[in-house]
Amino acid sequence: MDQIYAYLDGELDRPAQERLKNHLLDCPPCVDEYERDLLLKSLLQRSCACEPAPTQLRAQIMTRISVTVTSVEVRRSH
Ligand SMILES: [Zn+2]
Repeated sequence: MDQIYAYLDGELDRPAQERLKNHLLDCPPCVDEYERDLLLKSLLQRSCACEPAPTQLRAQIMTRISVTVTSVEVRRSH
C-alpha cells in the first residue's frame, strides 16, 4: 500500500513501478485503493487550481468515489 502512494507521488524508480503495475493486475483490493487515491489526488489538485472544476465533472468524480468506497465496504463485509 505504501508503494501505491509513492507511485502516485512519482517517487518510485522504474523497476518498482513495473512491479507495482504487475501487482495491480491481480490484486483488486489494491486497484480499488489506487483508483480511489488517484481520484482524491486529482480532486486535491483541482481544488488547488485557481479555476474550480466544472460542477458536473465534480459531481461525476464524487459519485465515482462513493461507488468505489461502497464496493470496497461490501467486499470487506463478506
Ligand atoms: Zn495488493
